[in-house]
Amino acid sequence: MLPILLKLKLATAAAAGLAAAASPVTVPADALVMTVAERVAAPIEVKLYDENLRISATVGIRLDGTMDDATAAELKHLFRCRTTGRQHVIARRTLAMLADLADRYQPRTIEFVSVYRVQADESPTSPHRDARAIDFRIRGVPLTQIRDYLWRTYSEVGIGWYPAEQFIHMDSRPALHDTAWTFLTGENHYHPYWAEVARRPAAKVAATPPRHRSGV
Ligand SMILES: [Zn+2]
Repeated sequence: MLPILLKLKLATAAAAGLAAAASPVTVPADALVMTVAERVAAPIEVKLYDENLRISATVGIRLDGTMDDATAAELKHLFRCRTTGRQHVIARRTLAMLADLADRYQPRTIEFVSVYRVQADESPTSPHRDARAIDFRIRGVPLTQIRDYLWRTYSEVGIGWYPAEQFIHMDSRPALHDTAWTFLTGENHYHPYWAEVARRPAAKVAATPPRHRSGV
């Protein structure tokens, strides 16, 4: 079975070929335009780079975090625990956020540092142990921009900023409190100022006019 992304490329190429063959006879424009439903169902091209093994892979993940079976198997292997070699399906919501980021910062590459971790010294409560977390950066995008976007956009998440190590930790944590932290000098600093600023309603900031005294 072909991965969805390849099928999509083939379908697009076929459509382009049809248009070229039919030229100059007009092909109805809407025949080549994807419907909204198709766009939602179509996988996002996610370019990945494994910073430890230095290998690249491109996979198709839908915005809802689902994918075809071949891609799911490939992704499980890519995101495996590097100490034990064990594999686990990564939480769908975490993959949905990954697809969203790939879409938002297209065509940039997402460099992942660490995903699934089940070695003995991994905390029992670690979202990495539960296959819900990804540590990553995006080439050419400031970490602070990714950090603020994720925190502003999603709830039931954990977002950690690691400025010294140069990566962002993101995890989905259904039914748990949102948690933001900065990792500095070997420890997590919770409730960072950036998190407060990122969730401040923009309208409230922008809509506060300077006060004028009446009669002036
Ligand atoms: Zn992490």
